[in-house]
Amino acid sequence: MLTELEREGVQWVQIDEPYLATNVTADEWKLVENLYRRIREQTAGLRIMLQTYFEGVDDFEKITSLSVDGIGLDFVHDGGKTAKALEQSGWPEDKVLGAGLIDGRNIWRADLDAKLEAIRRIAAVVPLERLILQPSCSLLHVPVSTRAESGLDPVVRGALAFAEEKLDELRILRAAVRQGEQAVEAELAASREALNAFRLLPERNREDVASGLRQLADIPDSRNRPFSERFELQRNKWQLPPLPTTTIGSFPQTPEVRQARLKWRRGEWNDAQYEAFMKEQIEACIRLQEEIGIDVLVHGEFERTDMVEYFGEKLDGFVFTRNGWVQSYGSRCVKPPVIYADVAFVQPMTVKESVYAQSLTDRPVKGMLTGPITILNWSFVRDDLSREQVANQIALALRQEVLALEKAGIEMIQVDEPALREGLPLKQEDQDAYLQWAVKAFRLATSGVKDTTQIHTHMCYCEFHDMIDAIRSLDADVISIESSRSHGELISSFEQHDYDHGIGLGVYDIHSPRVPSVEEMSDMIDRALRVLRPELFWINPDCGLKTRGLAETVPALRNMVQAAQAARAQHFQRA
Ligand code: GLN
Ligand code: ZN
Repeated sequence: MLTELEREGVQWVQIDEPYLATNVTADEWKLVENLYRRIREQTAGLRIMLQTYFEGVDDFEKITSLSVDGIGLDFVHDGGKTAKALEQSGWPEDKVLGAGLIDGRNIWRADLDAKLEAIRRIAAVVPLERLILQPSCSLLHVPVSTRAESGLDPVVRGALAFAEEKLDELRILRAAVRQGEQAVEAELAASREALNAFRLLPERNREDVASGLRQLADIPDSRNRPFSERFELQRNKWQLPPLPTTTIGSFPQTPEVRQARLKWRRGEWNDAQYEAFMKEQIEACIRLQEEIGIDVLVHGEFERTDMVEYFGEKLDGFVFTRNGWVQSYGSRCVKPPVIYADVAFVQPMTVKESVYAQSLTDRPVKGMLTGPITILNWSFVRDDLSREQVANQIALALRQEVLALEKAGIEMIQVDEPALREGLPLKQEDQDAYLQWAVKAFRLATSGVKDTTQIHTHMCYCEFHDMIDAIRSLDADVISIESSRSHGELISSFEQHDYDHGIGLGVYDIHSPRVPSVEEMSDMIDRALRVLRPELFWINPDCGLKTRGLAETVPALRNMVQAAQAARAQHFQRA
């Protein structure tokens, strides 16, 4: 391919190697050296720009001695070490530096004065004719433009920089470097003012939230008793059958549900109409679960479009853009909420629906929340506080919701953390610290309840087999975890790690529209019970059902309940 490009007269080719910003072994460096030497030998007329991003490159000597013509380095997410290495080691005379200075992973206006200072330091080592100013990574991770965001508070909007605005920042920086700051004085001043106004917003400087964080050390982040004791207390309280069945929370969001939400948002329906509709949905959902024979019920989450947006709209500290779409994967896009200010609890967010659902049935209904780490990892986050601090703000707000649910009589509460793994740093040496504060945030949110209150959590979308220890230290009474797509792997990791809390390995893949047979699910259960203790095992689908239709959901759940009954007969025969 490169030869073809060379033949066609292409001058520069960019090759992306973000892998080089992870923990690269000596053998891998050797391989990289050889590969680029061969590329050079075979396409001598082509100039290669090697891009790295998302982190700094550990071995500065190695990367700068590769036979390429330019190297792109991330000066934003590298903890400052790239600039230092550059000053210490200098820059090779045969190479161009692509200095990734504008944060490509966040949506905030840059502090251009600080960026100019950074450029001055770099330019003391690398001559301007070999220096390229660029975003820290591709602009795929940010929305296109803030131009259409007229619904936002002007101060908040003024602090945003999506892709187009980031390119404009690069233009201003270039002009300031080439022609002197006076050439772009007005633009620099406007940028300073916008950031200043944003910094001073009272909702970003709340004393009540700051004092909450200061008192963090006094808030217990563990339950009163260890799991083994809670387990007995909860067994007595709940009197569930062995191998209890449950679901992950959402039930199919039918066209009627979507339409109802739309009508209400457009003002065609008033609150009372919308609420009455929701109550009907909840009631039908409860009756359906009772009829199918599920043991622990859910209200169905019909009031939620998205599990993060729903909470963001009800907590302080969030704004929502109109067009801030970014690619999630493939052709799927998401519009992440923006955490622009201090996050705080305002009033109960889920109590009404859960309490109504519980009023309809004698079986336990699980309350349903999105956890602090998932809210953090699926939002754009302010960058003047650490992610840990923001996670703790969210956790303290959710702690109030958890306690409000408990007070209202909801004593099984699920706090979903599907995105726990997504925040894992790329460098191994940073991963423990992340997991520690992430686990702590989850525990802050969930540990205030009575020992008899059962905390559930749910995880999916990722491979979790290498973080079972962190998952155990969440100390959730029950976890339901997606495993039907990576089944072998997750199960075998339980051969090595003893998992000693309640656990449901999803017994079928909800992402597929087919109806799994009883035998298929029985087989999953048997395999899981070879490595997990039956007293601790739960039976559930591997994720929420919201993207499925009722046509496949109902028979699938019926089969699941049958598989559970068969497994009970097999593993819990009465003596
Ligand atoms: N409770 C959520 C649901 O059932 C969990 C969604 C998720 O895991 N992403 O929809
Ligand atoms: Zn899930």
